[in-house]
Amino acid sequence: MKNVSTDERLNPDLNSAPPRAVVIGSGFGGLAAAVRLGARGYRVTVVEKLDAPGGRAYVYKQDGFVFDAGPTIITAPYLLEELWTLCGRRLSDDIDLRRIDPFYEILFDDGQRLSCSGNLEKMRAEIKRIAPQDLAGFERYIRDSETIYEVAFAELADQPFHELGTLVHAVPDMIRLQGYHNVYDKVSDYFKSENDCRNISFHPLLIGGNQRTKTAYYCLIAHLERLHGVHYAMGGMGALVKGLVGLIEGQGGTIRCNAQVDQILVKNNRASGVRLVSGETLDANVVISNADVGWTYGRLMGDHPRKRWTDRKLEKSRWSMSLFVWYFGTNRQWNDVLHHTMVLGPRYEGLLSDIFTKKHLSQDFSLYLHRPTATDPSMAPPGCDSFYVLAPVPHLESDVDWKVHAETYRQAVAKRLAQTVLPGLEQSIVTSHMLTPIDFQERLLSYRGAAFSLEPQLFQSAWFRPHNRSEELDGLYLVGAGTHPGAGIPGVLSSAKVVDKLIALERSGV
Ligand SMILES: Cc1cc2nc3c(=O)[nH]c(=O)nc-3n(C[C@H](O)[C@H](O)[C@H](O)COP(=O)(O)OP(=O)(O)OC[C@H]3O[C@@H](n4cnc5c(N)ncnc54)[C@H](O)[C@@H]3O)c2cc1C
Repeated sequence: MKNVSTDERLNPDLNSAPPRAVVIGSGFGGLAAAVRLGARGYRVTVVEKLDAPGGRAYVYKQDGFVFDAGPTIITAPYLLEELWTLCGRRLSDDIDLRRIDPFYEILFDDGQRLSCSGNLEKMRAEIKRIAPQDLAGFERYIRDSETIYEVAFAELADQPFHELGTLVHAVPDMIRLQGYHNVYDKVSDYFKSENDCRNISFHPLLIGGNQRTKTAYYCLIAHLERLHGVHYAMGGMGALVKGLVGLIEGQGGTIRCNAQVDQILVKNNRASGVRLVSGETLDANVVISNADVGWTYGRLMGDHPRKRWTDRKLEKSRWSMSLFVWYFGTNRQWNDVLHHTMVLGPRYEGLLSDIFTKKHLSQDFSLYLHRPTATDPSMAPPGCDSFYVLAPVPHLESDVDWKVHAETYRQAVAKRLAQTVLPGLEQSIVTSHMLTPIDFQERLLSYRGAAFSLEPQLFQSAWFRPHNRSEELDGLYLVGAGTHPGAGIPGVLSSAKVVDKLIALERSGV
């Protein structure tokens, strides 16, 4: 009698060796999962809707300028190093990673500036300069954010969270670390100055959370940055995406762009491959979706019944805010502007409420400005600067008509930059491109045009988030911002680690 291998048992119609995996989407989560499965001997095909890999880390090239579309800050390079190690290489063989310090400068609306650094002595000096009464609170905060990091990131981020028991096990730590508090309340325990509270608590906005509702666990980011540093890959995020694609191809895997998945195929109640919009089908032993969770469950499952992530549940979930992003090149340089700058507006709570609750487009904004040419001249022609500026805005549940408002909004953002950090900006712009929430919805197929998938609130985190091993369909796994642990490059790279562990467990029959 023929011995039935584990892979044949997982998909009896596909008795090929090596086993096959299809990854839907080539964001960092999808690419990392592909490398990990390739290292396990899977024959991997990554299918991507867009004309190039990277997802939110897509690269626009225009008039001699290079614009990283999305992520700009690399905070946990060891997670990348692990992927290179799996392929018998070192990250430095392919990527020139540079440490950025100071990490960023914050410009408050009252004109005060704060330089954030990985150097604790320099940070203490900065806090002492702007709010000496907060120095003792700062010391306590440093200690506590380290404890939160050790538990919530180092221990739990790459652990599977699909079993209720894992959650129950984590509850005592959650109570001890006050994970049920929101970030702003937690930070207010340590700092009296409003500027300090804003400085210390703004991080969650960078991964889609409202400081007023996001679990205080996200205070860990302060420690993550200090421990591992803030980095930039020379050549931009595109260089990192290219490096990952090189690893996958080196393993014999394939990346297919302009290949949108229309449906996940199901046989014997198990994912058995995908059908592309072109009608072509690809068989697989496992399917890993890096597409937005709202799209995966709302659109890719065909008639397959869903127990948990029904259309109603998706509708009632809280989706992160969206972003307005303006990429622009100038025919001159601003050498006093750092690589990363936050230009905060006059309002804090009011702005959060406009974005997350009222879903209203404010006339004032808090901006993040990226100037890669501060580190890397290759991102623009000689003597020029390449920039992007982003403003958090409501997702598409709001009634803003971006087709009408985008240009007016861009002009208001440009005016604010000219008044604050880029005097004379308007006369110097030589190339320009915008992304609005409509692009997040239509290009990246993101539910409601959310920039960071599901909001990272307590009851949408860990076990409550869509599981990495799908609770709806055997043989389907989820990586990326919408699953555990959540958005941000460290988050999505960790989600690939979780998926890799779960697939290995399933193959071993556990
Ligand atoms: C403007 C911006 C700035 C950011 N800055 C930072 C930062 O500095 N540092 C940081 O750590 N994080 C940052 N983030 C967050 C981080 O970029 C994301 O959380 C992360 O890159 C998301 O990766 P992902 O694996 O979820 O995949 P995504 O990047 O979301 O990619 C998913 C891919 O799936 C494809 N796809 C979707 N549906 C289908 C389908 N049906 N068929 C085929 N393909 C499909 C999409 O086209 C896309 O390419 C930023 C995000 C944005 C938007």
